[in-house]
Amino acid sequence: MLNENSEVKMLKEKLFARRENGGKVLSDEVLSKCEDFGTEYKDFLNKSKTEREAVKYALNKAKNLGFTEFDKSKKYSPGDKIYLINREKNIVLGMIGKNGVKNGVKIAVAHIDAPRLDLKPNPLIEDKELAILKTHYYGGIKKYQWTTIPLSLHGRVVKKDGNYVDITIGENEEEPCFCVTDLLPHLAKEQMNKKMSDVITGENLNVLVGSMPFKNDSGSELVKLNILKILNEKYGIVEEDLISAELELVPAMKAQDIGFDRSMIGGYAHDDRSCSYCCLEGILNLKEIPEETVIVLLTDKEETGSDGNTGMKSFFLKYFISDLANQEELKTRDVLSKSKCLSVDVNAAYDPTYSSSFEVLNSSFINRGVVVTKYTGSGGKYSTSDASAEFTGEIIRILNNNDVLWQSSELGKIDAGGGGTIAKYIASWNINVIDMGVPVLSMHAPYEVISKIDLYMTYKAVHSFFK
Ligand code: MN
Ligand code: MN
Repeated sequence: MLNENSEVKMLKEKLFARRENGGKVLSDEVLSKCEDFGTEYKDFLNKSKTEREAVKYALNKAKNLGFTEFDKSKKYSPGDKIYLINREKNIVLGMIGKNGVKNGVKIAVAHIDAPRLDLKPNPLIEDKELAILKTHYYGGIKKYQWTTIPLSLHGRVVKKDGNYVDITIGENEEEPCFCVTDLLPHLAKEQMNKKMSDVITGENLNVLVGSMPFKNDSGSELVKLNILKILNEKYGIVEEDLISAELELVPAMKAQDIGFDRSMIGGYAHDDRSCSYCCLEGILNLKEIPEETVIVLLTDKEETGSDGNTGMKSFFLKYFISDLANQEELKTRDVLSKSKCLSVDVNAAYDPTYSSSFEVLNSSFINRGVVVTKYTGSGGKYSTSDASAEFTGEIIRILNNNDVLWQSSELGKIDAGGGGTIAKYIASWNINVIDMGVPVLSMHAPYEVISKIDLYMTYKAVHSFFK
């Protein structure tokens, strides 16, 4: 074969944007770091199936590394490591920088909520001697995907006396799990002709939880009675306690390597516990005191619009930054205006099976590294937070200078749909913010797929931004 003209080769290297598979260009040393990081991450994913559990995991790890609960009346110095919890569903972690907050703070934000099935306030019914829990789905899901898979139940029930009990059932093989039933194909002639969005409706997402009637007695609803008896014996709760409870049904599957080459990880809620984990590790692994104060926020309710007192639209983070500003007798607005933020969130990885929904040049690909997304939104960039040329350039320089493998992407084809992240809420505080994160296959499905390389590179991106 003829050698490519050396001038052409040189010019290509100089002028073309690089689009490379990390498996090809990363050293064995880096690839083994990707592997190790993936192993730890799988453990996190298995232990953190709800936002409360993710907060707990982050808190334990942070405390072990010397983070202490923030007390606004105390005076903090460079290198101090602090945390603050909001309603057990948000955690903010901070490390005071050499310059404090006078030049602004560096923030990385990710969300720890994920699509799931919540129990309705009155969930338990008995129908033809089957006990069923009625659910209300949370987040954007393709409902049919949530039928006929093993589900576990996680959450908190507050009892009449004010005490609460945390429930986790269905994660271990010895425990029972639950599932949503579906109609057999033999009788599904009518169902098969429905539009996909009508095949399984919200009211079809009923979870099977029992079939055994209360023994040695007569009357109605004996299966339901038997279930309530079991719940009462095990957890000390009664039916009325379910009204206030936060009980979530999530896929019971464990995170696992995908592929003969084990290059990928399958699991529930990579969106966005993958990015949350990268943010968490990004701050926990800081070895030296950063110039500016760095902050990580793991937030809730992103999948439902970031509303509520634990969503990104709450003032939790703003108040925290405000308390830091007060320490140095600075105005919050002056600190915010100088601050920078990574909105770390997943993006849709190119899927060759569904190629018509993607525009190849502006898609993200498995193994090409962390995805930088300059803007999100839908249609004519509706509801977008568009990072400026200057800030995007600054972030890309950081990635290049720290050997972070990265790629750039939009979210699918222009008119295929679209979506947003929490970036716009942070941008509204007059903060420079850009989206980046892990490319995901089958996003919002009960079982999503990411690559170990992309996960590690997202961590490296956050860590490089901080240090
Ligand atoms: Mn997300
Ligand atoms: Mn999502």
